[in-house]
Amino acid sequence: MRLNEGWLEDARRVPSPHCDCRPDDESPSLLVVHNISLPPGEFGGPWIDALFTGTLDPHAHPFFAEIVHLRVSAHCLIRRDGEVVQYVPFNKRAWHAGVSCYQQRERCNDFSIGIELEGTDTLAYTEAQYQQLANVTRALIEYYPAIADNMTGHSDIAPERKTDPGPAFDWAKFRALVAAQPDKERP
Ligand SMILES: [Zn+2]
Repeated sequence: MRLNEGWLEDARRVPSPHCDCRPDDESPSLLVVHNISLPPGEFGGPWIDALFTGTLDPHAHPFFAEIVHLRVSAHCLIRRDGEVVQYVPFNKRAWHAGVSCYQQRERCNDFSIGIELEGTDTLAYTEAQYQQLANVTRALIEYYPAIADNMTGHSDIAPERKTDPGPAFDWAKFRALVAAQPDKERP
C-alpha cells in the first residue's frame, strides 16, 4: 500500500463531493474505525458508493428514503472481500464522525481519517478486512505517525449516538497486525 497525493495507489477510487478542507490544513492524527452495510445487514451491493457520492436512489429500498438526504462520506471502505475503496483523499476532511469528541477535542472530522468496514456490529469481520485495514493503517502511519497512538472506534468518540464498529471488531487482533506484520512491499 502506497500513498500518492493523499490517495492509496491500490484502492479503487470513487471521488466523493462530500468533503472539504481541513481547518488550517491540519495533518490527520486520529484513525476512526466504522462499519456500514446497505441495506443494513446486506453486503456486496453498490449502495455504499452511492450514499457517499450523493447518488443513492431513494426508491431502491425502503431504508434508503431515510438516509438519502445525508451528506456523508468516509475516506475509505474495506469490503468483505478485502477490496479497498477510497472516496476522499486523506489530506481533505471527510464527513464521517459527526458530533464527536476524542480526548477532550471536539469535531473529530477536522483531524481524523475515517475508515468504514463493510459489516455490522455483531457479525465477525473477515480475515481479508483485518489484513487490508492493517495494510492501510501502516501506510497511513508512515505519513501521519501520530495515528499509531490514536486509533479509535466511532462508538468511542460519539458514545451517545453510535455503536460501530461494535463488539464484533477485535481491537487486539487489529493492533497486533498493525504493530507486528512487516510491510510486504519492503525488500
Ligand atoms: Zn460510524
